[in-house]
Amino acid sequence: MATREVLSSRTETVNKYMKLDQKGNIMAEYVWIDAVGETRSKSRPRPERERAAPTAGTTSSGASGPIDLLDSALDSEFAGFVAGMMTELSALCCDTLPEKEYAAEDLPVWNFDGSSTDQAPGENSDVYLRPCAVYPDPFRGSPNIIVLAECWGADGTPNKFNFRHECAKVMEAYADHEPWFGLEQEYTLLDHDDRPFGWPTGGFPAPQGPYYCGVGSGKVVMRDIVECHYKACLYAGVQISGTNAEVMPGQWEYQVGPCEGIKMGDQLWVSRFFLARVAEDFGVKVSWHPKPIRGDWNGQGLHSNFSSKEMRVEGGMKHIEDALKKLEPHHVECIKEYGEDNDQRLTGRHETGSIDQFSWGVANRGTSIRIPRETAAKGYGYFEDRRPASNADPYRVTKILMTSIFGKL
Ligand code: ADP
Ligand code: MN
Ligand code: MN
Ligand code: MN
Repeated sequence: MATREVLSSRTETVNKYMKLDQKGNIMAEYVWIDAVGETRSKSRPRPERERAAPTAGTTSSGASGPIDLLDSALDSEFAGFVAGMMTELSALCCDTLPEKEYAAEDLPVWNFDGSSTDQAPGENSDVYLRPCAVYPDPFRGSPNIIVLAECWGADGTPNKFNFRHECAKVMEAYADHEPWFGLEQEYTLLDHDDRPFGWPTGGFPAPQGPYYCGVGSGKVVMRDIVECHYKACLYAGVQISGTNAEVMPGQWEYQVGPCEGIKMGDQLWVSRFFLARVAEDFGVKVSWHPKPIRGDWNGQGLHSNFSSKEMRVEGGMKHIEDALKKLEPHHVECIKEYGEDNDQRLTGRHETGSIDQFSWGVANRGTSIRIPRETAAKGYGYFEDRRPASNADPYRVTKILMTSIFGKL
């Protein structure tokens, strides 16, 4: 408790420094995925880029900004007018690029000591960070950026823990199917004794029931973290599509999507980095483990919703059923990609299907795959793969879904 009080009382002091001018530099926080499926990051300054001719728009991989948000909210003609105004205004008040216009290609390759992260041996320890997507930085604010990077070896091969490289190839090869994913990330907030935050010391809370989508003291804890994370995602252009309190006290969920192709893995990883970083501000830990508390408590998953272009239009149900037939014989192969310790969670109890058996059903939460009621009623839409664990790598999940359905490359 003391740690958190000290942290919050420092806010005013920190803000004194945060207001200081950066003297023509931006801060670029490079984020990568480590050997145990957590994110790591380090920062370097970059000189602010000069604004090019007003019409020259560089695209960044993945990020959208306030103008894009306006686009969807207003009719397009008016949005165009507002966007033009904003571009002119920002040209007047600053002569540097807004952070959304930094592209991954413009940023330098960097490196880190892979022997300190179990990602490389000590005698050949350099791991290279190749930028792959850029987002506005919700922690330092404009004009600073978050740079998601792939890990590569000095010999020009992807690092053992770089699952993005192969995933991106698959997404590229099957881009014509316009694959959409929506991932539901469940997690638990832990105190420093590794017990769920808000649980009584040495005891247990009342059994599950009042906590799912709960409101009120005694039902949910640390909503502040959930709200701050939501804002951070929106600011960065991560397509967060909702959040809710979960079945076990201290457990929460947020959804990201629908995102097309490789953007799904990119955005989910950045959203995980944001959550760990926000929770750090509150002195709270995040557990991504699929069964954070043993016993009669719900585990946690990364339900993966999927649709192709063909599934989203009339007659789509046939394509959904074909996909499920393709997925069935790949069950064991899929489970291997769906996260560590998932056997502790996929027991056939607590709203899961059994790990040994592939099953599907309409509106059934005790199966491997659920077809949402609305999809069944309309005859087209998407399906939900409920098997992936909360600690699964979204690059591995989205890739195996694609290769199971459309074939290996
Ligand atoms: P649940 O009822 O399982 O809790 P949620 O509302 O939490 O479902 O999550 C549903 C997810 O499905 C969201 O991430 C959403 O973006 C995604 N989704 C919605 N439509 C599609 C679609 N056509 N293809 C893929 N994903 C979709
Ligand atoms: Mn959900
Ligand atoms: Mn859930
Ligand atoms: Mn779900």
